[in-house]
Amino acid sequence: MSHTKRHVARPRPGPDWVVQDVRPYASWREGITECAACGADVDLTGTHYGMELLRPDDAGEKRSVERERFVFCSARCVDIWRRD
Ligand SMILES: [Zn+2]
Repeated sequence: MSHTKRHVARPRPGPDWVVQDVRPYASWREGITECAACGADVDLTGTHYGMELLRPDDAGEKRSVERERFVFCSARCVDIWRRD
């Protein structure tokens, strides 16, 4: 640990997870989710960024894809999260 390491509220679940899509939403649905970077409460009925992550699983006989959705309060937090 020779340099400053950022810690995000909700890090990438693993190295094999691929960021599929990040885009701003004016309104997605009712509810509040923690920003994956700074941990602030994000009102999903307001402006926020949504990120879709996929983990392809080719190992098994059944090909399946796991999905996670991360939410960010701002584009800046998306940047911070990507750099972490
Ligand atoms: Zn944030």
